[in-house]
Amino acid sequence: MESAVGQNGIATNPAGMAKYLGDWAGDYRGGALAVLRPASVAEVQALMRLCNEFGLGVVPQGGNTGLVSGAIDSKGGLVVVSLERMNAIRQIDEENFTLQADAGCVLQAIKDACEARDCLFPLALGAQGSCQIGGNAATNAGGVNVLRYGMARDLILGLEVVLADGELWSGFSGLRKNNSGYDLKQLFIGSEGTLGIITGVEVKLFPKPAKTDTAYLGLASFEAAIRLFNRARSDCSDLISAFEIIGSECIELARLIDPAMRAPVSAPVQVLIELSSSAAVDLNGLMAGFLADAMDNGLVTDAVLAASTAQARSFWAIREGLVEGQAKRGYHVRTDLSVRISDIPALIEQARRFVANDHRGWIPLAYGHAGDGNIHFNVLPPPELAEHEARARGSEIVAGLYEITVGLGGSISAEHGIGRSRRKEFWVGLSPAHRRMVAALKNALDPKGLMNPGCLLPSTEGLP
Ligand SMILES: Cc1cc2nc3c(=O)[nH]c(=O)nc-3n(C[C@H](O)[C@H](O)[C@H](O)COP(=O)(O)OP(=O)(O)OC[C@H]3O[C@@H](n4cnc5c(N)ncnc54)[C@H](O)[C@@H]3O)c2cc1C
Repeated sequence: MESAVGQNGIATNPAGMAKYLGDWAGDYRGGALAVLRPASVAEVQALMRLCNEFGLGVVPQGGNTGLVSGAIDSKGGLVVVSLERMNAIRQIDEENFTLQADAGCVLQAIKDACEARDCLFPLALGAQGSCQIGGNAATNAGGVNVLRYGMARDLILGLEVVLADGELWSGFSGLRKNNSGYDLKQLFIGSEGTLGIITGVEVKLFPKPAKTDTAYLGLASFEAAIRLFNRARSDCSDLISAFEIIGSECIELARLIDPAMRAPVSAPVQVLIELSSSAAVDLNGLMAGFLADAMDNGLVTDAVLAASTAQARSFWAIREGLVEGQAKRGYHVRTDLSVRISDIPALIEQARRFVANDHRGWIPLAYGHAGDGNIHFNVLPPPELAEHEARARGSEIVAGLYEITVGLGGSISAEHGIGRSRRKEFWVGLSPAHRRMVAALKNALDPKGLMNPGCLLPSTEGLP
């Protein structure tokens, strides 16, 4: 392999590989024959040719911030291919509002480069300082701005991919409209490294917002939050760029990251709403009018409108801190559920009842991108429970939460993907026709089953 990636591009000793074999949350530990760090597309091609020749399985890895063990494999007989050395922004085209970057470019670096050119790349998530644009494409990442700009899939114009046999497919065109046959890039978006290694990504840019208004609101219930969202949709139209919902029980978790953190309102359900515009619109007047109306109608019980960028940042710090706080507390049940927006209150109500009745002492948390129908219903084990017991019980809790979600016609993965941790439930839930199509695609693009084996799909022998 050294011939493919050079001496600096390979690690085989435990110390050199350690950082690539554990996930962000500390939930999964993997193994590998070697970690390869190619520095160019040609090196990715060379290593894939060798893996294809010798039948070696490959786990592509971006920033390793995924939460479903997609980039970590515990079996150890595979090679991990980290894209971290391929991190250049290749081109920003302000006239056409497009950007091309190496797959290993960190999302924050892309956002910063766009901002410096008065453009916006709107993909935004808590892990943006570490996750890579290739990983965002491979997982079809979502985040807080999906409501306005869509998921990664909606933002990607083209991909460059090294296929399982080392052949390069270059699908960059800069075109916004291109109805000429199958849109092949869509196969790789959300494929979680199972069809090829993404080496380059071309994305759409937007005008940079000239103004952003953020408010932190208190409400009596999740029903009220959904009614408020519907009102916001009609009163503030497409100027809403985020609508996040936070159960008050989550605030304690954010304080584990910063003990001084305080929610600006005291209410059982809290909403972080953001309006933004790149045109000269009176956002402040719009937000103030909308909130005054919502308070008059009793939908909102308390509201704080950020008076400065620093105050708006402090609101977002609560939302980001509560996610980090959960990881800090240790093992917990983590979900990423999607239901119709109107079913959010029913999902939370049924899930809370299930935990209270069947898993006494466990602490439920509900928060998420409510404007997209995406709720993270997570459950913390009682502090005194030993971790191995908590993990065993945790799988039962996950199964119960999935049953409730599917019962509501929802999905067990809104944005994090399937990885290795949700593979069984995903596969069981597919219809025979769906399974046959998935298997046909996998067999056509990766006939030897080398690309991220164990992730998303059963082994090649298990495919129909
Ligand atoms: C604090 C925190 C907050 C988060 N918030 C969100 C959120 O709001 N929305 C959201 O969608 N996700 C969120 N995530 C999950 C995660 O950040 C995203 O899934 C992200 O897109 C993963 O990117 P990555 O570069 O870290 O990929 P990795 O974790 O390295 O890999 C993820 C998957 O993609 C594959 N892959 C990675 N790079 C490539 C490549 N170049 N070619 C082919 N396959 C590849 C891997 O094999 C794996 O299956 C969050 C995670 C954390 C830790």
